[in-house]
Amino acid sequence: MSELIAIAEARRRVLASVARLADEEVFLAAGLGRVLAEDVESSIDVPPFDSSAMDGYAVVAGPAAELEVIGESRAGYPAEMSLRPGAAIAVSTGSAVPEGSTAVVPVERTEQAGSDRVRVPATEPGSNIRRAGEDLRAGQAVLRASAVLGPAELGVAASVGRRSLRCARRPRVALIVTGDELTDPGEPLGAGRIYSSNGVALAAQVDRAGAEVVLRETVADSAEATRAVLGRALDEADVVIVSGGVSVGPHDHVKGALRDLGVEERFWGVGLRPGKPTFFGARADGLAFGLPGNPVSAMVTCQLFVRPALAALQGADPAATRGRAILDEPVARNPRREQAVRVRLRAADDGWHASLTRGAQGSHVLTSMLGADALALLAPGDGKAAAGERVEIELL
Ligand code: AMP
Ligand code: MG
Repeated sequence: MSELIAIAEARRRVLASVARLADEEVFLAAGLGRVLAEDVESSIDVPPFDSSAMDGYAVVAGPAAELEVIGESRAGYPAEMSLRPGAAIAVSTGSAVPEGSTAVVPVERTEQAGSDRVRVPATEPGSNIRRAGEDLRAGQAVLRASAVLGPAELGVAASVGRRSLRCARRPRVALIVTGDELTDPGEPLGAGRIYSSNGVALAAQVDRAGAEVVLRETVADSAEATRAVLGRALDEADVVIVSGGVSVGPHDHVKGALRDLGVEERFWGVGLRPGKPTFFGARADGLAFGLPGNPVSAMVTCQLFVRPALAALQGADPAATRGRAILDEPVARNPRREQAVRVRLRAADDGWHASLTRGAQGSHVLTSMLGADALALLAPGDGKAAAGERVEIELL
């Protein structure tokens, strides 16, 4: 292992190796979580016309009066006549305000006065009218390239008439788990075997990061098998994630195979707990992450190093949401390595509070990820981070 590097330095090396992927047209219905690759401006005023904010009557603003009702403007069906003084036109919410009218009186403030007549109170010009362009003007910027599309962004794109958007292509990810001991969930468990959890957990993290798993394999601890599957993975994917087999034992073949396949090492070993034996390398056509096999280490390093790469490949901001939280219990520091401690967050008057998800935080205790809202990142040092100390957190 070369000299251990800090989390920030490891991330910097990952991001320095990322080249943005091409973009493609994506229908809004498939756009959730995608990263916008264009600036979007509105081609129309929103709302497109002056419209009523209420069910009621369009009138010429003025003193209280009794008016003749001469027609109706419904949502989707504007009135064909225009308004004259002394008259009113029935309107519904969202209907076009008839020409000549300067105010809308809500129906609950009116009184019927015979079959075609209505009494209205005094009105101010403009009341209960939504003006054309009040939300957006034609030509106005509404969404910026690099935005991640959520429900609101998709709704706004639809409101300006877009049915598809230019988005970055989703990164194609190959997910390879290594280990002679691995058994697929659902199969009987032989002696010395464990169920493979990394494939499932990492695939879910990759999916959340907006990428697509295009190849998923379990490979035995054999140099030939590892090289064969990694060769295919590098050919088919933008990003290869391998779990396990990356250490220096006699049955660890990942680094050798990646080297033979032309992957150039960018780092090997991070001053991080859990997650020290993490490898990252690059080839002209893709990136390769060798994550530790321990399930917590695999998830933590995926969050800290793979997720930013997947965001940057799509042109999104790779920075996770960081903040500070008050530790509710002491945590022993590691003398040499930064620690990523799984914490639950609770909002209080003095800010966010963090408490450990579980007493045991070993890298093999996968249940320590359950209910984790964030990783608390503790700097290396002696003794303990005390209860009440403010520490850096990264939201999961
Ligand atoms: P390795 O990095 O291959 O030395 O594996 C470290 C530890 O992680 C060992 O205890 C493995 O059994 C365990 N491990 C490796 N791969 C997986 C996996 N896919 N699911 C669950 N545990 C794993
Ligand atoms: Mg192994």
